[in-house]
Amino acid sequence: MEQVRVRFAPSPTGPLHMGGVRTALYNYLFAKNNGGTFILRIEDTDQARFVPGAEDYIKQALRWCGFEPDEGPDKPGDCGPYRQSERKEMYRAYADQLIESGHAYIAFDTPEDLEQMRNNLKASGVASPQYNVISRESMKNSLTLPADEVQARVDAGDPYVIRIKMPRNEEIRFEDMIRGWVVVNTSNLDDKVIFKSDGMPTYHLANIVDDHLMRITHVIRGEEWLPSAPLHVKLYECFGWEMPKLAHLPLILRPDGKGKLSKRDGDRLGFPVFPLEWKDPISGEISSGYREKGFFPEAFVNMLAFLGWNPGDERELFRLEELVQEFKIERVGKSGAKFDGDKARWFNQQYLRERDATLLLTDLEPYLRDDQRAQGDDFLVEVIDMMKERSSFVQDILQGEYFFSAPTEYDEKTSQKKWKEGSADLMQGWVEELRKMDDFSEENIDAAFHTYIESKEVGLGQLLPIFRLLVTGQGMGPSMFRIAALLGQDECVSRIELGLSKLS
Ligand code: GLU
Repeated sequence: MEQVRVRFAPSPTGPLHMGGVRTALYNYLFAKNNGGTFILRIEDTDQARFVPGAEDYIKQALRWCGFEPDEGPDKPGDCGPYRQSERKEMYRAYADQLIESGHAYIAFDTPEDLEQMRNNLKASGVASPQYNVISRESMKNSLTLPADEVQARVDAGDPYVIRIKMPRNEEIRFEDMIRGWVVVNTSNLDDKVIFKSDGMPTYHLANIVDDHLMRITHVIRGEEWLPSAPLHVKLYECFGWEMPKLAHLPLILRPDGKGKLSKRDGDRLGFPVFPLEWKDPISGEISSGYREKGFFPEAFVNMLAFLGWNPGDERELFRLEELVQEFKIERVGKSGAKFDGDKARWFNQQYLRERDATLLLTDLEPYLRDDQRAQGDDFLVEVIDMMKERSSFVQDILQGEYFFSAPTEYDEKTSQKKWKEGSADLMQGWVEELRKMDDFSEENIDAAFHTYIESKEVGLGQLLPIFRLLVTGQGMGPSMFRIAALLGQDECVSRIELGLSKLS
């Protein structure tokens, strides 16, 4: 097989949507699974849509996810530059080549001319008027104007664009790696602008020229580009270049399956749609990111991989290296992939559980208050160990404030259900036992507790919940004996006494 070369080709028009990250991921996985090269190309030919900071954001996002390009603006290979704005000079010659071979033409129409054409066509019943094989006959272009007039206007500096000349009634066919055969008749396509009056190519021309010059073998991109694919196939044919294989990825849908997952849906559901937080350079508005929400990059990538792909069996947990091993583009589905916030959280939880407590201590650092930090690492590692099974995110580890301070409130439900007539006496006796203990270890507290309830002839359910309630204020949590051991004898005794005075 030829040397696989794929590219991720974002336009720096804002933060990268998670759909874009998934496109990058699938390109990376496909490249690495085939021993190929993953290229980053910045498609910034549309100057009007350029947003400062966006390119940097894209690179940082890829870095955070763990799949950095083999070639790109910061790591040039032999196909640079990797930013289209820096390749500007080379596109014009290709547009001229198409004019010379009769596949493209110059058009002088002003915005008003175009507007009028559309209005006329609409008036005669054409639902979506286009600049195409029919309408071009009555427009101001090098197909309708005499050659010397065209030359004179060009020489005089009249603004013009270059359009592709779509033939009438030809079939364009290509085989998409995900969707199978796609067949489109050229009569349904318009004469797209390939070169603009500002001296810049449009996306279509620049994209094709660069894919060719960068020796791209497979184009893997979002479904929104499928309608452009026939034009691209046509352009390859006009140039006489070999076509890369195409794969159009399914959309990422909202949880209800009704439409593409947008930032607004994310806000509504309380989920980011961006990998990293983004601050809009103009409005200053902040959009949340997976990283800042507390997602591990491994979990985010794993979740993302499954939005459109699966290994064909029940396995769900895959780190990046494992995805590289398993990824086959044939296993990417055609239909849209529904985003599921609970599932995203679930993935994070799995990675949290697997993570070593000392690593988690480092992760927790930014969330710690000074008084919490002052408890020391051993104490915090114990908290982590107890809480990680009950957490989806690193910050959830700190949800038990009782590890750090005595409760000020007591869970209403538990006190209503469990605090009975004899509870105070029972607890009074138990606190005496606790006070007597020499070795305040988890095992010892556990043993003493069982001896005590047997001597009192009461069940576990009569004492344990109220023991927990007085020490933690909660109705549920990790092993109460372990919590007590961690807090220590004095603290437990004093909390119980405080609780008894409040609840009795
Ligand atoms: N610049 C396009 C984008 O922003 C690239 C599409 C493609 O991969 O061909 O998505």
